[in-house]
Amino acid sequence: MVSVERAAACVCGQLRTTLRGEPRRVYACHCLECQATTGSAMAHRAIFPDAAVVERSGEVRRWRRTGSSGGWLEQAFCPTCGTVVWMTAQALTAAISVSVGCFRDPAFPPPVAAHWTVRRPPWLRLAGVADAS
Ligand SMILES: [Zn+2]
Ligand SMILES: [Zn+2]
Repeated sequence: MVSVERAAACVCGQLRTTLRGEPRRVYACHCLECQATTGSAMAHRAIFPDAAVVERSGEVRRWRRTGSSGGWLEQAFCPTCGTVVWMTAQALTAAISVSVGCFRDPAFPPPVAAHWTVRRPPWLRLAGVADAS
């Protein structure tokens, strides 16, 4: 059986990564850091195991911060256009969290859970998405 491959790329297209197989978990996060990072009301991310990465190209910069749980988070972004294409985190063992918007695919599997719903704007409703925290 041939498993699906999907490419995620920044807005300008120079930083890209191709992943094989389905994501392990797709989620939304409404924490204020994700809102600031995305410039929107939520981050929409998909966790893939490191082994799913079949290709990566382009220049990448990384920025590390302390997450709300106390562990580190590291954003991998394009130095030209600034798009965060993926993140790694202390809490993610041998896995990366890819920005779903970078797949440019509205048919991408939807989020199954939303985090930091206490920070979610009251006008936003995600159909069929459970509040995880
Ligand atoms: Zn770019
Ligand atoms: Zn967040």
